[in-house]
Amino acid sequence: MRFLIVFMVIMLNFKGLTQTFKLSIFTESNIKSISFQPGTGTYFLMNDTGFVRKIVPADLITINLGISNKLDVKLNNSYLFSSLKVYLFHEKSENNAKLKPIIPAIKERSYEGDFEVINKAGKIQIINLIDLDQYLEGVVESESGTGQNLEYYKAQTVISRTYALKYKNKHASDGFNLCDRVHCQAYLHRRFNAALIDSAVRQTKNLIMLDEKNNLYATYFHANCGGQTCQPDYVWNETLPGFDSFKDTFCVRTKQANWEKKIPVNEWKAFMVNKYDFPIWDSLSNYQLYNFQQSERHAFFIHPFYGIPLRDLREAFQLKSTFFSCSLDGEFVVLKGRGFGHGVGLCQEGAMNMSKKGFDYQQILLFYYPKMQLTVQSDRLNRKM
Ligand SMILES: [Zn+2]
Ligand SMILES: [Zn+2]
Repeated sequence: MRFLIVFMVIMLNFKGLTQTFKLSIFTESNIKSISFQPGTGTYFLMNDTGFVRKIVPADLITINLGISNKLDVKLNNSYLFSSLKVYLFHEKSENNAKLKPIIPAIKERSYEGDFEVINKAGKIQIINLIDLDQYLEGVVESESGTGQNLEYYKAQTVISRTYALKYKNKHASDGFNLCDRVHCQAYLHRRFNAALIDSAVRQTKNLIMLDEKNNLYATYFHANCGGQTCQPDYVWNETLPGFDSFKDTFCVRTKQANWEKKIPVNEWKAFMVNKYDFPIWDSLSNYQLYNFQQSERHAFFIHPFYGIPLRDLREAFQLKSTFFSCSLDGEFVVLKGRGFGHGVGLCQEGAMNMSKKGFDYQQILLFYYPKMQLTVQSDRLNRKM
């Protein structure tokens, strides 16, 4: 019986292997203790030696750090076993499970798919093994929230699918494909707004974007470009073909179109002098330090001559974007900015607005990635063989 179940579980999970992704979840948290409980359905609990038992929604599994790189596992508060790895495999693909970190205490999250838990140098690492499309449902909702319409969700699905496939080896040396942080696409839970997001994923099944060289497109996106998208070399010091800066009027009246931040004059001045040797003794430079204007996106603060990349200021002062101008107001430098995010590629609030105005997902994608071509993933694989 035990081996039959192990075999079934392995078959279930190796079916369609090429589309199964390994995602690190709770990546940013240093977890020492976590609980696991089925939300719906049955899971198979396994350890290093094999199948242990079935877990149903009335069961609460607690996993704590143990000694010798092991994990200690309890069932409903009774000790069960210690093991290097703990696996929880779902019985049916629509099952979901609730994971609740206890130390530190973090809000519970729900996920579909299977789970692999290890003690990684004194920290509990949780890997979610999941079908690509189920992962995308969670990503699309984590990245764009609820309340959007179908064409927007379809556009977000295609770029998120393309992104996941293009960067699937990003964390290969860590033992998984992608993590749940923004740099790998936010993945905070399974999708809850089921109907529309499921339709978007289904209706764009296997659709991906290719660049002019038939490689997967680098589908960068951000919350709001502030009315002009940004050249990649302003952000990362590298040029990316197919990402010229252009004007975007679809996002200028949306939620994150404008921001303002006040910084004490002394802090602003000290940062520029200490870090960049800024010549405040020169009266013109000193004036410009507080009166920089940016009607179009620049790469550098004031002038490249001073060697102050705007992306450095964004990071140092935690600004929403690099697209800002400044002025003096008493003891403060007032930064008035536009947009939110790095500004490269698709502008999410602009794309949402386009979908409300009746543009379909292909028109939205072509507006933000003018050189892209849509294709079906299996066609591309066949062509490369
Ligand atoms: Zn990552
Ligand atoms: Zn925009």
